[in-house]
Amino acid sequence: MAQGQSQGPVFGRLVSFKEAFPDVELAEFRYTEWPVEHPNSDDGRRYRRNPGEFIRCGNPRCRNEWGSGLPAGRILREMVESRAMTLQTSAICEGVERGRHARRCLLHFEDIRVSVRYRPTE
Ligand SMILES: [Zn+2]
Repeated sequence: MAQGQSQGPVFGRLVSFKEAFPDVELAEFRYTEWPVEHPNSDDGRRYRRNPGEFIRCGNPRCRNEWGSGLPAGRILREMVESRAMTLQTSAICEGVERGRHARRCLLHFEDIRVSVRYRPTE
């Protein structure tokens, strides 16, 4: 039972992905994270399936445990509302970097491609 497993809290509550999106069998996120930590060895392309409310960004100084990163939950709710199967968009991380001076995390998520497979309706 690999599908539908939770990879984190959705919508700030400790509910599984399956509870938050009962109609969704599989949600796949492909995106480019930019800038990347090691640009010579990493093209920034990322893949996640059935994510939590936010997909954490790759900036190690970002306080993204506060609920920032790629807003996967918000994107998915909008898609599910209109039964959309594919979507292409971009987003910025709204996190703040740790350190003496609060500084916005400047990480971007480019070329986000989401595909959703819905459970068959009875
Ligand atoms: Zn960030």
